[in-house]
Amino acid sequence: MSLSAPDICPCGGAPSALKRKGGGAAYQDCCGRYLQNGLLPPDALHLMRSRYTAFVLENQAYLKHTWQAAHRPESVNFDEGAKWLGLEIKDFVETGVQNGQATAEVEFVARVRVAGKAHRLHERSCFVCEEGQWRYIEAV
Ligand SMILES: [Zn+2]
Repeated sequence: MSLSAPDICPCGGAPSALKRKGGGAAYQDCCGRYLQNGLLPPDALHLMRSRYTAFVLENQAYLKHTWQAAHRPESVNFDEGAKWLGLEIKDFVETGVQNGQATAEVEFVARVRVAGKAHRLHERSCFVCEEGQWRYIEAV
């Protein structure tokens, strides 16, 4: 079960050409392509954005699917009443190829308010591309 699809993508992303007046990309033109329509994110940056959106929408199935099996949790816990405030990408670098699979790192800041208290999650994450599907490995 996940929350219903929004009009504007929570990740705040997508190329500028997709941005609507007033800011933000349409969900269906942004992470909705990956969460709902089954397209594969073309790189770790888009995958990272889509995972942020999946957290906002509490889409557990997508989060697990895009988590490398060796690090994937049994279930993803969502803080009750959490209000996600935004995602800011700090850095994105493709880090080469390991065992025939492309790897990348994304550094980001996500802000969330839980029980009236604001939190700032700052993480540099590493990702791997497994047969065309980018997956989150872990924090660096
Ligand atoms: Zn998005």
